[in-house]
Amino acid sequence: MLIDVVKARINQGKPIKLQFTQKIDDSLICDYNARFLSEIEFCGEYYLDQFQDIKVQAKMFAKIEFLCALCGKPVIKDFIIDVDETFTQIANKENYTFSKNNIELNQLITDNIVLNMPTVVKCSENCLGRCPICGIDKNTTKCNCELLNSQNKEEDINPFSILKTLNK
Ligand SMILES: [Zn+2]
Ligand SMILES: [Zn+2]
Repeated sequence: MLIDVVKARINQGKPIKLQFTQKIDDSLICDYNARFLSEIEFCGEYYLDQFQDIKVQAKMFAKIEFLCALCGKPVIKDFIIDVDETFTQIANKENYTFSKNNIELNQLITDNIVLNMPTVVKCSENCLGRCPICGIDKNTTKCNCELLNSQNKEEDINPFSILKTLNK
């Protein structure tokens, strides 16, 4: 989506509505074990501020499917991001720059998504995760792995366990 800088100048600070949907490739968020279930809905406005910079203020919305970090179950989240960015003509560290009469918003959109991605998503606060030994989903099934494992460990440290092996 393009922002029309000329129109913003003509409007002299009056905001111009910005509303569109855009498909974003899943490769952007695949490192987070996530994928888009919807297009991005972008809803906001842009205007020329007193420094002749272009301000973009909007909300972005998308449905994203994550995988629970503990059990791997899909978790669907409504992802809402507040966008508040400035495009300046002179480059600086905090802002985006523009030099033409149009501003392409792709970079702003993908940056804002990545910056807001949660690092850990759980299906619930009480998720029991998967058994590290047999891999079973402990939220739905019980296994005896940990019990068996702790019994084995007890035998290992029991000084009399050596006698058992000698008697054989
Ligand atoms: Zn889970
Ligand atoms: Zn198990």
